[in-house]
Amino acid sequence: MHATNAFTLGLTGGIGSGKTTIANMFAELGASLVDTDLIAHELTAANGIAIEPIQNEFGAEFIQPDGAMDRAKMRECVFADPAKKLQLENILHPLIRQETNRAAKNVNGAYTIFVVPLLVESSNWRQKVTRILVVDCQEETQISRVMARNRLSQEQVLAIMRAQVSREQRLEAADDIIFNEGDLTQIHEQVIKLHSQYLQLAKSSLINLEEND
Ligand code: ADP
Repeated sequence: MHATNAFTLGLTGGIGSGKTTIANMFAELGASLVDTDLIAHELTAANGIAIEPIQNEFGAEFIQPDGAMDRAKMRECVFADPAKKLQLENILHPLIRQETNRAAKNVNGAYTIFVVPLLVESSNWRQKVTRILVVDCQEETQISRVMARNRLSQEQVLAIMRAQVSREQRLEAADDIIFNEGDLTQIHEQVIKLHSQYLQLAKSSLINLEEND
């Protein structure tokens, strides 16, 4: 059986839309999560596998005493210099891909959800998943949630949002949409409904594979 042919869901949404909150609801119901943001974060945490190449290419001053990448310093550096940004991406992207594939092989849920903030932006990701679930909310809601969660200014949140595709483009790419505003109990009901559809799709993709073997 080829795992790449089996049903896989890509879950995406703008910053603060509620991806993590909703992905965790699916995980509680039995789906496996592969969170690319978490993987990316671990790469540059203390003992992360990206630390050595970053130190070699950017210098020891980008590594904190605790062994993690100095995020604030790196953010400043790549923001000011697109070539540096590319250099960092050239280190991180292959490692993210490698670690994502590894994580996807080690799951045992009913089906796998890839949580990918920039899924719509990436043709690789769009090809890799069989279905796309977009978590959507109003832009004002995104802004107020991220300002509260990350203690950022409105301008900082807007700058992050501008670097992502527009809400319309994301919705256009969606097979399914959860409009995440208001009561989370009501959102949970939508998650339960979608989860049962995904279980069916996962089951039928397995049968198709067996027929093709
Ligand atoms: P993302 O992973 O898309 O950036 P999160 O799931 O972390 O978003 O949600 C952003 C913030 O908003 C979190 O603090 C979360 O607890 C909160 N949040 C998410 N959905 C809701 C909701 N329906 N009502 C209230 N707060 C929410």
